[in-house]
Amino acid sequence: MQLSASKDSCLIGQPGICRGHLTFDNPRLAGYTWPICEIRGIEPGPKLCVSAGVHVNEVAGIEAAVRLQKLFEPSKMKGTVSIIPLINQPALFRYTEYVCPLDDKNINYTFPGKSDGSFSEALSYAIMNEWCADADCYIDMHGGDLRERVSKFTIYQRTSNPQLDETSRQMAECFDAEFVMGLPPELMTKPGRPPTGFAKHNRVALMSEAGSNGLLEEDAIAFHVDGVLNIARKLGILDTSISTFRNARILCDNYLWVKSPVSGEYHAAVEPGQRIEKNQKLGTVRNFFGEHLAEITAPAAGFLLWHMTHPSIPEGSPILAVAVEAKSA
Ligand SMILES: [Zn+2]
Repeated sequence: MQLSASKDSCLIGQPGICRGHLTFDNPRLAGYTWPICEIRGIEPGPKLCVSAGVHVNEVAGIEAAVRLQKLFEPSKMKGTVSIIPLINQPALFRYTEYVCPLDDKNINYTFPGKSDGSFSEALSYAIMNEWCADADCYIDMHGGDLRERVSKFTIYQRTSNPQLDETSRQMAECFDAEFVMGLPPELMTKPGRPPTGFAKHNRVALMSEAGSNGLLEEDAIAFHVDGVLNIARKLGILDTSISTFRNARILCDNYLWVKSPVSGEYHAAVEPGQRIEKNQKLGTVRNFFGEHLAEITAPAAGFLLWHMTHPSIPEGSPILAVAVEAKSA
């Protein structure tokens, strides 16, 4: 891994603000560079890595990663905050939904990655083992691709290690979220999101989700920014107080995807964030004559996490997701 600093930056590894470009040594990642901003405090301390743009249309997270660079001052912090605003570089200016155009893989589901894998797998491996190698926490910000609207939520991975789970949950609760999703431990058996890949190595990674339809919504940007600042406070990087929470941060322990049983036009009856009952009608799928094709119902009681806003949905494609509230909550 090499960081080449731009002209006005401090020296790499010295206190100050270092802006530049990161390259990875793996030949599978050759030809790409990642813009990076590292803010290093005068006093040593924890390291927080923050990224966005795994999904390039989820712009609230990307804008949050840009604004966060100006919100840490080396003289008023301990340790290091390292920020990469756009992970999926091959998708830049291509507006690709979900996947990396070089291998058609969704980087978000390739963690912990493989050094000898495809571009996406090699990248997630490099993120985890090089850029985040000495990080105390990694946060990847998401939310609201071109055709979707998401509620405000955070994701951490539940494991068989209660101490790690407690730490991860407390971190996930630093965001002013409607829902705090602890992914089921069963997900640990296959490649997954950053929280899953990191948890396999007893490390903490989180995802924050807020936004809609590729829009720069101030409310969603603030959710990501304030949550990251709170994590920095929790880690002891900043010594200011944690901001107050307006949302319920309801603990959830299962994330259920609902796919369309038929190709057609989806019309939602429920919005993200709303509480739903099992079997409740969430919307209908119609054809281009307005005729009813299918009713979409809730697979379990819980909350609508997100849904697609563009009505055209092919058969077998995800329409929405439901968060199931944790029983102990
Ligand atoms: Zn995303």
